[in-house]
Amino acid sequence: MNTLLAETALYPDLQTVFTAQRRQAPHMALTTASERIERIRRIATWITAHETAIQQAAYNDFRKPATEVTLSEILAVWLEIKHTSRRLKQWMKPQRLPTTISMMGTRSYLHHEPKGNVLILAPWNYPFALTIRPLVSAIAAGNVAILKPSELTPHMAALIRQMITELFPVNEVAVFEGGAAVAQALVQLPFNHIFFTGSPAVGREVMKAAATHLASVTLELGGKSPAIIDETANIRQAAEQLAWGKCLNNGQTCIAPDYVLVHSSVKDSFVQAYETAVKTMYSPDGKPIEASDSYARIVNERHFERLRSLVHDALAKGARVVVGGSMKAEQNFIEPIVLEGVTNDMVVMQEEIFGPVLPVLPYTSLDEALQVINEREKPLALYIHSKNRNNIAYIQARTSAGDTVINDTLLQFTNTELPFGGINNSGLGKSNGFFSFQEFSNQRGVMQRDFGLMQWLYPPYTDKVNRLISYIKRLA
Ligand code: NAD
Repeated sequence: MNTLLAETALYPDLQTVFTAQRRQAPHMALTTASERIERIRRIATWITAHETAIQQAAYNDFRKPATEVTLSEILAVWLEIKHTSRRLKQWMKPQRLPTTISMMGTRSYLHHEPKGNVLILAPWNYPFALTIRPLVSAIAAGNVAILKPSELTPHMAALIRQMITELFPVNEVAVFEGGAAVAQALVQLPFNHIFFTGSPAVGREVMKAAATHLASVTLELGGKSPAIIDETANIRQAAEQLAWGKCLNNGQTCIAPDYVLVHSSVKDSFVQAYETAVKTMYSPDGKPIEASDSYARIVNERHFERLRSLVHDALAKGARVVVGGSMKAEQNFIEPIVLEGVTNDMVVMQEEIFGPVLPVLPYTSLDEALQVINEREKPLALYIHSKNRNNIAYIQARTSAGDTVINDTLLQFTNTELPFGGINNSGLGKSNGFFSFQEFSNQRGVMQRDFGLMQWLYPPYTDKVNRLISYIKRLA
């Protein structure tokens, strides 16, 4: 037996569930918009009844504050459900496409048909939203789905399994818990589409496995998302927004601002305003940030140690901590930290930080700042803080990023009308609302002839045929 088959053989129930779903897929494809909306609304009803359980699971996994769970996990799913339920009938309607004059007598349409069997692999950092939001779109598009939540947030994974078991028959939606081994076994199965959210390194493995069956993939990945603050920016506002973006979920957010490039003339005022913003959010009464109920923790010891060594490496190579710095291993607690004096040889400028550590790099010309961005992989997000329209346009035209937010942070994820996702190393494909629906659908072109014939073009290829081809060329 080859190793790929051996991996799947280790989990015989995966194959059984997959086969049951494969049989069910054609039936799901025939469901109406109302039937799909009813399924999606089951999820909404369950969430409303179990909000406390969802909050508790996230707290148990990494002390995520209840309000933050409601904001970033529950609301995120809720908005997707509302938007999808409202728009689905429209999205499912065949869309009439224009017909070129040379194709007179035909009509053309775009049909969104379900891809069929889909696999959703989720990360731990927003363990509820990043598993359930894609599921909403997968159901909306008429698919059957297998979900694998992250093993690093086991309380949430167990709750998701309970939820799905209560809401759906296993041949429509199923959950498998476990780590890389289960995921590796799953990706060997001949899914029609794999929707993966996670790191670029694992994304590459998923794409390789998908290639075996030529399954399409959506890869929602991460990387280093920069923020630029120019000399015209509202510094206080930028500092508050970036402090929130960096500290929400304890910095463990794919679109968290990873590092800041700030015009040297406003660098000191930015750092001061950042420190003030952090204190206002997490220490309004002067108590240590560690005592704040609004501040989550690093997910586990391994990630805590990764962040600690990242800071130590930077300090050893000449960086300075200018804000924060306290860490407590027994709690996986890291206070928001600002680093200055960072250079490219430090790990902190080479890897996605994924924690509350913010390198601040001063620049004197925009081109200098753009060079720092463009010598790295294309980011998932680029944040621009500026009041100068020319600067904003200059930066946008000379960079590439999955999404860009001007004068705010993180909010690109919450607008269900906006495509969300990366480019190359930060991801392939887009999600949110219609864009997710599209990822889970085959865009099937349909052409129908009503009158007229094309037999004039058939052999034998006489002069008449050649004249006709020239005529069509002129018409185009
Ligand atoms: P990860 O890549 O380690 O794991 C993601 C999922 O893949 C987990 O369910 C894991 O069990 C599974 N997995 C592990 N090995 C696998 C393999 N060989 N084949 C298939 N699946 C495998 O990511 P993580 O640590 O859970 O999440 C953090 C990363 O995710 C960061 O890079 C972050 O930027 C990114 N992220 C991106 C988005 C986005 O929307 N673009 C959102 C959240 C997180």
